[in-house]
Amino acid sequence: MSRKWNEDDGPERVQRDGKRLSRQARSLLKQARRPSFHCLRCGSEVPTEASHTRHRNHCPICLWSRHVDGSIGDRKSTCLVSMEPLGLTIKRDGGELMIVHRCTGCRKIGKNRVAGDDNAASIAALLESSAALDEHTTAELEAEGIELCRDRDLVEERLWGRGGTS
Ligand SMILES: [Zn+2]
Ligand SMILES: [Zn+2]
Repeated sequence: MSRKWNEDDGPERVQRDGKRLSRQARSLLKQARRPSFHCLRCGSEVPTEASHTRHRNHCPICLWSRHVDGSIGDRKSTCLVSMEPLGLTIKRDGGELMIVHRCTGCRKIGKNRVAGDDNAASIAALLESSAALDEHTTAELEAEGIELCRDRDLVEERLWGRGGTS
């Protein structure tokens, strides 16, 4: 026997009431319930809590980020424009794989830990495109103390080697 959703049921009622709110108010409410943000690049809704990271600020599909942090995890930046993934780097302490982003607005460079559900094909594509970065960008990264990792085997090991199968 199938049960039809009754409009007077709790969750449905909340939704029905919500329909009177503006689109913006609804999206704010939605954000308040679940920590997430909207990918400015591909439009995916990105939960900020994912496996292996508590401070994800990049999209697992296209890997683009958003300039939300002043310093790591504080969500205090007022810039808020999209950040382009430039390549991958390995954190000196701990050896974690990080994505290097540069803000398309203020050009701030940031690093964000790769999350467990990041798209593997996008990571592989990023690895390839990072090999073709211009000298100016590479110098910019070096000035920040960031050395890009272009070693595919090493990246794969960091991505899937955790705990290993052997
Ligand atoms: Zn995206
Ligand atoms: Zn910025």
